[in-house]
Amino acid sequence: MSARIQAIRGMHDLVPEGMACWQRLESAVREIVDAYGYQEIRFPVLEKTELFKRSIGEVTDIVEKEMYTFDDRNGDSLTLRPEGTAGCVRACIENGLLHNQVQKLWYMGPMFRHERPQKGRYRQFYQIGIETFGLAGPDIDAELILMARRLWQRLGILDQLELQINSLGTSADRKTYRVALVDYLQQHREQLDDDSLRRMETNPMRVLDSKNPEVQKVVASAPSLVDYLNEEARADFEGLKSTLEACGVAYTINPRLVRGLDYYSKTVFEWVTDRLGAQGTVCAGGRYDGLVEQLGGKPVPAIGFAMGLERLVALLEEAGDCPQRTPDVYLVLVGDVAISQGASLAESLRDDLPRLKLVQHCGAGSFKSQFKKADRSGAGYALILGDDEVEQGTIGVKPLRGQGDQVTVPIAELARHLSDMISD
Ligand code: ATP
Ligand code: MG
Repeated sequence: MSARIQAIRGMHDLVPEGMACWQRLESAVREIVDAYGYQEIRFPVLEKTELFKRSIGEVTDIVEKEMYTFDDRNGDSLTLRPEGTAGCVRACIENGLLHNQVQKLWYMGPMFRHERPQKGRYRQFYQIGIETFGLAGPDIDAELILMARRLWQRLGILDQLELQINSLGTSADRKTYRVALVDYLQQHREQLDDDSLRRMETNPMRVLDSKNPEVQKVVASAPSLVDYLNEEARADFEGLKSTLEACGVAYTINPRLVRGLDYYSKTVFEWVTDRLGAQGTVCAGGRYDGLVEQLGGKPVPAIGFAMGLERLVALLEEAGDCPQRTPDVYLVLVGDVAISQGASLAESLRDDLPRLKLVQHCGAGSFKSQFKKADRSGAGYALILGDDEVEQGTIGVKPLRGQGDQVTVPIAELARHLSDMISD
């Protein structure tokens, strides 16, 4: 045997057995985005490196050390997308979706970051993202949070999540705040690590984001950006809070919540859980009013968020509430004549009952071995067609989950018989 080739570290296969929670999550998301009037957008997983540098920011974890960047055959520097917002904005500008119109969009797909793999942190992971354009808030800010809450409710995990909000103000607010923050950090520089010292010079708000417990202690008493908000940012933040209160959404204000990317302004928020150890943020987002212009479009206010599907699936798995999808019926075919008629019988049932989930046994085999497979498939019923049945124009219908005895049904009446059974 040849040596096996293994998957890349931190990049996982999702095998059928583990898909139930993924499917439950994804179909709940589709229902909810539909219900709120959001439209799907898709864009490439590969973009020019410049796109991410210019949007996410040079002095961020992602751009400094997490991107999968390589030269294309013609020498262009390309990067596997580490997040969706930058590509989404690029696609919207390029396709003229932002000319005096509101867009409410969502997308789903893999993202790539070269991080140290651990529980809840992978090198290829999946996100579902929501982005809206042309709305300055705070009504839309609240809508995004309410939409996420409805999703958690539908999935039965709302009580495991806490909503944290903050406002990063306008860029003028951050400029004033920056001076106060650097001043404070300078006074505690002996407690900062090298990363934080460097960031204090280049991008001091990133220090608030540090995962180092020593730095976090210093940061705990740092000045708060909320105290530096101008009239407009303050009014928006108050507007968001009062809508959340009117809708009965519990929240905490976390003044250290700055988000790890450069493009955010005003409202930022995260949904966090204490059930997943260190990787507790399952959904994060915020307003990014400057980004469209920064990427070459006309200025358009925007806000969005992204959720990490692996972390949400982990919560759903813990709740243990994701039934496997199983077939309604498994068609057992014993004998040459029965086998030769199996496909046309299966197709005519599919014509008559478009929602029927029918697995046709392929590959012949004894009655006993086929019956075992029928049982293992999780199907509700086995349909048993042998040469005798073909001759008599009948078929056996055997309940597999303890719903009574086997009955013999004329083939002409099978579709009606099944539709009665499946609908109850
Ligand atoms: P963290 O602080 O955990 O590194 P982040 O701020 O880098 O998160 P975002 O860029 O905001 O994460 O991405 C949004 C969401 O995507 C996160 O809240 C998380 O659920 C998920 N996510 C981010 N990075 C990873 C990863 N490497 N593996 C799995 N999920 C991830
Ligand atoms: Mg990160």
